[in-house]
Amino acid sequence: PKSNAVDHFGKDAVALRIRPLSSKEVKENVSAAIKIAGKKSLVVTDFSDAQDPLRQDRPREKLYEFDAVYPETASQVQVFEGTTKTLVDYVLQGFNTTVFAYGYLSTAWRVKELNLTRFYNTSSATGAGKTYTMQGTPENPGIMPQTLDHLFQQIKKASRIQTSHGNANPQQNATSATSQSYKVTLSYLEIYNENIRDLLSGRPDYLELWEDRLRGNVVSGIERVEAKTAADVLDWLEKGNLNRTQEATGANEASSRSHAVLQVFVVKRTCNKKGQYTEQNGKLSMIDLAGSERAADTKNRGMRMIEGASINRSLLALGNCINALSDDSGGGKYVNYRDSKLTRLLKDSLGGNCKTVMIANISPVALNFEETLNTLKYASRTRAI
Ligand code: ADP
Ligand code: MG
Repeated sequence: PKSNAVDHFGKDAVALRIRPLSSKEVKENVSAAIKIAGKKSLVVTDFSDAQDPLRQDRPREKLYEFDAVYPETASQVQVFEGTTKTLVDYVLQGFNTTVFAYGYLSTAWRVKELNLTRFYNTSSATGAGKTYTMQGTPENPGIMPQTLDHLFQQIKKASRIQTSHGNANPQQNATSATSQSYKVTLSYLEIYNENIRDLLSGRPDYLELWEDRLRGNVVSGIERVEAKTAADVLDWLEKGNLNRTQEATGANEASSRSHAVLQVFVVKRTCNKKGQYTEQNGKLSMIDLAGSERAADTKNRGMRMIEGASINRSLLALGNCINALSDDSGGGKYVNYRDSKLTRLLKDSLGGNCKTVMIANISPVALNFEETLNTLKYASRTRAI
């Protein structure tokens, strides 16, 4: 529905999506802590101190507002159409745009750590829906495949319009006023522990991020493949996902602690009569962010702690950047991109003429209340104040 769409003409847009309960959760009869209050708001009931008699009378409902709220029943198509579809036009016009999926890190160990195994079957501890939103399933493709599908459709349409204006015969095309062509290439990388790895080449080594005055920050040596159809892209995504970092230590899935970044580069070349051409470069970054966790909660030691720290660093830096960018108190807040790999990589894709969409994902489960609250706080902080 139109009224549920994100307004890209305002500031950076933040949408909230609530995933449905899984069949397991339904069976376990877990309680829901989230109520949708409108097309752009929701109410959260705080269960965290329900046992505290001193707090019995205090109001426990808090209202959060977003640019759009997508309920459990929202389809992948509705989420795409409301948040990301219009970004494609910007990219085709040569702008940089970014879409993020944000949400908490859900792991069985956290349930154990918080001593909640009594209430909750750890085998069913489930995520917030970030990967489902960005990648989806073959039956229900997410933002990444839908966006690319739409991109190729728009390119086809643009070529058709151009042909009907100009001349359908390519041999006579040289004599018509101008001609346009598009080239789409993509890269897919992972940021894990502040290290960048190329998911397409599958090379195990870490790649450097160079500052290039003309091209912005570039990942040196990263593979860039050309895609001609959305199906090409799906193949590459699938291949790349197999290269994501795996952890053998059980519940604590490494892939949920890394950022997966799909970047799509669109070059539009316009040729004039004399055979001279101009080029416009647009870039679309689509990011399945690592799950968020509160530093105070990570009682892990060694490697786990390092991971937690660097993930928080990237997410924190991202939040700070978006926050500084959306500040219109006049003075122009200092935006520190240098704080993390993620923000350095996205330096030319946030702020300025760029369009950014954040899709915050939450589960309706009361158990995840603290995480949900954190997501809501993060998302409302990144939303323009
Ligand atoms: P995250 O990436 O945030 O850890 P996932 O995307 O993996 O979470 O989602 C957790 C589980 O819930 C997966 O099994 C996923 O298929 C399912 N899921 C998430 N969102 C939805 C949704 N909107 N509709 C149906 N199933 C969903
Ligand atoms: Mg995931």
